[in-house]
Amino acid sequence: MLEESLETPVAFEAREPIYLDFQATTPLDPRVLAEMLPYLSGPAGNPHSTSHFHGIAASKAVEAARSDVAELIGATPDEIIFTSGATEANNLIIQGVLNSVRVSGRRRIVTCTTEHKAVLEVVAHLSGRGAEIRSAPVFPNGMVDLDQLNGLVDDTTGLVSIMTVNNEIGVLQPVEEISRIARAAGSFFHTDAAQAVGKVPFNVSEIDAASISSHKLYGPMGIGAAYLARNVRRVVEPVVFGGGQERGIRSGTLPVALCVGFGAACRIAAKELDYEAARLLALRNQFLEILQESGVHFEVNGALDRRVAGNLNIHFPHVDAEALLMRVRNDMSISTGSACTADSIQPSHVLLALGFGEARAEESVRIGMGRSTTEAEVHTAAQKLAKAVASLTKVGYKTSLMER
Ligand SMILES: *Cc1c(COP(=O)(O)O)cnc(C)c1O
Repeated sequence: MLEESLETPVAFEAREPIYLDFQATTPLDPRVLAEMLPYLSGPAGNPHSTSHFHGIAASKAVEAARSDVAELIGATPDEIIFTSGATEANNLIIQGVLNSVRVSGRRRIVTCTTEHKAVLEVVAHLSGRGAEIRSAPVFPNGMVDLDQLNGLVDDTTGLVSIMTVNNEIGVLQPVEEISRIARAAGSFFHTDAAQAVGKVPFNVSEIDAASISSHKLYGPMGIGAAYLARNVRRVVEPVVFGGGQERGIRSGTLPVALCVGFGAACRIAAKELDYEAARLLALRNQFLEILQESGVHFEVNGALDRRVAGNLNIHFPHVDAEALLMRVRNDMSISTGSACTADSIQPSHVLLALGFGEARAEESVRIGMGRSTTEAEVHTAAQKLAKAVASLTKVGYKTSLMER
């Protein structure tokens, strides 16, 4: 029974090293690729040239995909604006809303310290241009402090932007509660849902705007969407101008095959979400059990009980994360949340925001499991990781010296 429920829903090509970085990107589901192929190798067709057969065929494919995306999040097709991904959707929503509402005195944006750079850098850019940025802190478990957030949202607030699922620690924020706080002050509420859509039940009924990325849900890279409720659509200013596609909100010819793939990915996610969430939760727990049995010392970063199923972020005390990654890189692809700038490695701003200090941020790794992850991979990876950790810890080092 258990084995059955741990089976991957579709066979992916097995490759070494073991891929465990599903928060960075997910592999293209082979069923998605199959739906895309006819639009890559088939006849031409600009979906905006609807005065002839070829254009109409392309347009129909795009609109079917738009419906699939809308359906997954409980939106209507007219509320979906295709973009190149979640980064562009964040830019469109944050810049497009703020540029519009700040003329009426709402120039404040409230966000939180653990947001993705595709939110933080946009608001930082706007703060140099007359917007006022406020950032709510998070508790050590990664949950945003709602009292503090509430105190920051006032009648000059134009937008509250808080992500649904964090890309480093997987923590799920109470977006509906946050939306109530925003709306009570007359502000719009936006959520970067790139890590949530297709992984956890996500419905936009209480949300004004959301960002989605296809390549985080087993669709192709280079496409995503901005969900804009009608009240937001009325005010949002375009960031990209041109031929007036996507209701004039985001100009540019839509990539038909990518739209089709994104739509297929959403359809599959809707069907398999519950199964996959349960399967990944079981695999995640097995990963933790194997680490526990190995005897290595570790702590999970971020709440375990309010978290997307396929994510772990683990602190191994006294083990340099970069050294650990180097040690296991032939066996598995895992990551740190650290960002490489020109000449230095910056510890993860998310882990720093939890308040544990730099050492913990530099001793933590992110492990992401997903649709192609098998039970065998989890066992192999957890055992090899535990071994590498043991050999890198100071205690482990001393023990191995004594053994010699
Ligand atoms: C991946 C990711 C993004 C960026 O999405 P792209 O589609 O790659 O631009 C933004 N926000 C979060 C939370 C993400 O995980």
